[in-house]
Amino acid sequence: MSGERHPARLCVLGATGSIGRQTLDIVQRHPDRFVADTLVAHRNVEEMLALCLAFRPRLAVMAEPAAAERLAERLRASGSDTRVDGGPAALTSASADPMIDTVVAGIVGAAGLDANIAAARAGKRILLANKEALVMTGPLFMDAVSQHGATLLPIDSEHNAVFQVLPEGRLVRGVRKVWLTCSGGPFRDLPELDLATVTPEQACKHPNWSMGRKISVDSATLMNKGLEVIEAHWLFGAPAADIEVVIHPQSIVHSMVEYDDGSILAQLGNPDMRTPIAHALAWPERISAGVEPLALTAMPPLTFCTPDRRRFPCLDLAYQALARGGTAPAVLNAANEVAVEAFLAGRTLFTGIPRTIEAALAAVTVVERPDLAAVLAADAAAREAALAALAAATG
Ligand code: NAD
Ligand code: MG
Repeated sequence: MSGERHPARLCVLGATGSIGRQTLDIVQRHPDRFVADTLVAHRNVEEMLALCLAFRPRLAVMAEPAAAERLAERLRASGSDTRVDGGPAALTSASADPMIDTVVAGIVGAAGLDANIAAARAGKRILLANKEALVMTGPLFMDAVSQHGATLLPIDSEHNAVFQVLPEGRLVRGVRKVWLTCSGGPFRDLPELDLATVTPEQACKHPNWSMGRKISVDSATLMNKGLEVIEAHWLFGAPAADIEVVIHPQSIVHSMVEYDDGSILAQLGNPDMRTPIAHALAWPERISAGVEPLALTAMPPLTFCTPDRRRFPCLDLAYQALARGGTAPAVLNAANEVAVEAFLAGRTLFTGIPRTIEAALAAVTVVERPDLAAVLAADAAAREAALAALAAATG
């Protein structure tokens, strides 16, 4: 069913990233439904240039102004009529632009916050991958979505699965638990491995998914699942005590909802982010995503077990930050971003990541019911505390 509809005009935040590229793959498969109107990225001119030449967006935005200038020159030289803009204000105006129907929130980390909020305030349909921004601002972001009539659709695979198995995508009476599945990361089956010795390359080698480096490290520490617990809490309004994490190494069951009557509903599929992205792009309709259906009779056995919370303390740090409330999740997130960056740069050990976060959570005073300014202040204070903890550990 397509009729006379106009194609949805997309603003892809983080267009050069793993989520952005997979979104553009779906766009390319359905040119009658979607137009890549605006592409937004950080500073990689070569990658953005290639995307602009392939998708001919109306607007390309680079967060770094110098990169925007270089991109504009290159596009001019190749005869492209894509307009180029740069700097933080260009990001927010791109995602709030009246031309745009749908904003794909695919920037990694706190850097995506302003553009996401601008999209919510402009009442857009928002496809949320950027969990860090939601973790930071939880109630503020959800309020902006409902006050301005925005539509929020999760594309994080677990939350997309939960959305699909809840009636109308919302928590109802009779839900007993939300089960988030977790691959366990690359170190799951190596109980003897000294985690203090693992390298960024080992940590980024995810067994089932190919993703950006930051989320790959988060998957290895289980902080990704911790952030997802907080994300599920805000998206669905589920109490933390009703959100459970279960290790499922095959990454075929993407998450589950357990009901009071004994039913557990699950969403299954091959591990390919194009499924949740296509689901959210077309919702409430269904479209092809280029993903092979599961070969049910050839599948490996599906197994489930409990996470090792002692080896992977990041999971409990996230539950604690959620229980503490206020700005604690923002502190957790910012300290994690700093610690992961330090680990990827060889400035701290893998085991230094939870230590750094714990130090920041202890050092930064929590503000209750923060406004946006208080969230940003907590983010800044947490980054400073994390850097101080890293310096103290190496000094
Ligand atoms: P990535 O590193 O592959 O891409 C990140 C994108 O963000 C790039 O386009 C980059 O240019 C952009 N970016 C980074 N810093 C920026 C800044 N300061 N200003 C503007 N743009 C900036 O990351 P990814 O794996 O695509 O992840 C993106 C988000 O989606 C993350 O929040 C991640 O947790 C979430 N997510 C990713 C996956 C996945 O499979 N990759 C799955 C679920 C959720
Ligand atoms: Mg996920």
